Amino acid sequence: MEASTGTAFQSEPTLEMAAEIETRLQLNPDYTKRIGNFGFLELEESWGDEATIINTARISTTNKRVNSLDAFTDKERTLLHYLLAHNHGTPFETVHFRFRVVAPIFVLRQWMRHRICSFNEFSQRYRMPITAFYVPDQEARTVDGFEVLSQESVERYCELVESMHRFYHDEYQQVCTRIEAAEQAGLVEKTAGSRNPYRARARELLRNAMPVSTYSDLYWTINFRALMNFFELRRKANAQYEIRAYADAAYEMFCKKMPLLGETMNRVLEERAKMGEQA
Ligand SMILES: Cc1cc2nc3c(=O)[nH]c(=O)nc-3n(C[C@H](O)[C@H](O)[C@H](O)COP(=O)(O)OP(=O)(O)OC[C@H]3O[C@@H](n4cnc5c(N)ncnc54)[C@H](O)[C@@H]3O)c2cc1C
Repeated sequence: MEASTGTAFQSEPTLEMAAEIETRLQLNPDYTKRIGNFGFLELEESWGDEATIINTARISTTNKRVNSLDAFTDKERTLLHYLLAHNHGTPFETVHFRFRVVAPIFVLRQWMRHRICSFNEFSQRYRMPITAFYVPDQEARTVDGFEVLSQESVERYCELVESMHRFYHDEYQQVCTRIEAAEQAGLVEKTAGSRNPYRARARELLRNAMPVSTYSDLYWTINFRALMNFFELRRKANAQYEIRAYADAAYEMFCKKMPLLGETMNRVLEERAKMGEQA
């Protein structure tokens, strides 16, 4: 699948990002995925595994360690399920994951409601915005076979969003020209690169004109306990289609990395759902 930025107009960070996504897809094919027209998800790193959870939990009882998942017997598998099903939460906080997420700002706004995790995001203060923006495809704009947004609406939406990106670009060029003239006239001090306070202030103000469909780029670091909560909330049918696509992709990568923990989590979620139905 080819990435599409939604616009012919591309900033430097957009071109860099497109090239980087391409490289990561080649280097880490099992743990990367394109999402939507320009989105991307990668499970870059994880720390700990099912054995870490068992060993952490056992410090309070037998302190009998298992060296790895290969040493698991039914006893460890039963304990893993017991701990998760009975909300013995802290051993599950010892396993961590770091994902790279390229997603529209409106998706990241929902994502950032999850507080028990860490984010490090691309800065529109230090850099020009990524000019790629979200364009809903046929599936995204269709509900139960009914096309909610027509192709013509999407085309008008693209024109509007592109005009905002152009506004940013044109205004910023003008600001830079004025700053250079002032520097040459000795009216302001010349400062190199992203630290130039005049350019930085212009970027701080102009980014307010960037719509929430603009793509951003971040690192998301989260422990398993909070990740399970994220899956439970964001993979549900009532979660918005776009964040669900990322949650499903993260879930697939997680299950590939830790199949036993994935199976145990699914069992516990099914048991909880059954109890909910009976209540
Ligand atoms: C379908 C859907 C619709 C939503 N709609 C809206 C909406 O209209 N408006 C809106 O504002 N939000 C909305 N949300 C966001 C939602 O309310 C949560 O903020 C978000 O899903 C994060 O969940 P969380 O708090 O469990 O996760 P985290 O913030 O990661 O917290 C994980 C867990 O830690 C504990 N915790 C974290 N912080 C605290 C705290 N301060 N006090 C006590 N315990 C804490 C809780 O047990 C929590 O479940 C929606 C979410 C979904 C999935």
